[in-house]
Amino acid sequence: MKKKLKLKTWVWVLLVLILFGSIGTYAGIKIYKNYQYEQTYEYKLQNIGYSKEETEKILNVFTTDEERNFFLNNQKEQKYLDFLNEPYFLKEHFQEYLDYAINNSKLTTKEVVRNINIHLDHPFYDDLGLKTDVSKDYLMLVNKYYLLDGTYAPDDLVVIPQTYAWGEAGSRSCRKVAFDAFEEMWQGAKEAGYYLMISSAYRTYQDQETIYNNYKENRGRKYADSIAARPGSSEHQTGLALDIFSKANSNQATFKDTPEANWLKDNAYKYGFILRYPEDKVDLTGYNFEAWHYRYIGVEAATYCYEHSLTFEEYYAYFLEK
Ligand SMILES: [Zn+2]
Repeated sequence: MKKKLKLKTWVWVLLVLILFGSIGTYAGIKIYKNYQYEQTYEYKLQNIGYSKEETEKILNVFTTDEERNFFLNNQKEQKYLDFLNEPYFLKEHFQEYLDYAINNSKLTTKEVVRNINIHLDHPFYDDLGLKTDVSKDYLMLVNKYYLLDGTYAPDDLVVIPQTYAWGEAGSRSCRKVAFDAFEEMWQGAKEAGYYLMISSAYRTYQDQETIYNNYKENRGRKYADSIAARPGSSEHQTGLALDIFSKANSNQATFKDTPEANWLKDNAYKYGFILRYPEDKVDLTGYNFEAWHYRYIGVEAATYCYEHSLTFEEYYAYFLEK
């Protein structure tokens, strides 16, 4: 009887020990897990005021410790999130956006992102060490920051037949991919009742040099820059740019008001061309409005630019410059 009772006590003691042991272990794990969670960026970011969604967004975009610590080393700022929410935000420019925004407080977040993306924080022709990446083929960017050198010439030029071009027979040529697209577009315009005509197409580096230097020698660099591209910065050297007018009107001053100009503006993208220097983008392209200057960039890119009202500079920065 005494022995049985002793055993019972033993069982009770054991049970109590197991119980406390379990609670202890459970609490320990819980504390440890909590501690672990408190070491995460997720916890730390929410701890300084970012919501769950904002935290997720930051962590999705910024993946290294260095990038993430920026947010922890600074107080929560709405402007960080505003930049992140911009559709063409590029994280490699994040610090530049912030610096530029401070010095350009009148610009919207969208304008800050756009300007930095396309280098507008620098004056045109500033030497940024940028060159046209010709490996991008018909998506190569040529402008006042990205220049071609004197040796670049396309190797698939085709002569534009007299049906489509002003000037002497055989005097106009462009890259085959652009010509094929133009022919289709010409047909489309014809069906709409219009007769398109090309006045200028491929130009060599040396052609452009002559044009530019003539202006420069006669009226100075400032005037030359306002009217012509410096050698290497003309899209015509790519063989992908066409100056398109109509048979009825090849006048630079009045072409913009013709039905042909309107038809081109709203239909060229279907064939892979964009109006390269639109009236409302002069500040971005650095070129006055040219109702006749079309650039082949392929249907996909042209459609995107048309639908989102983007210059090729903006498209290139976001989708192609990697
Ligand atoms: Zn042109």
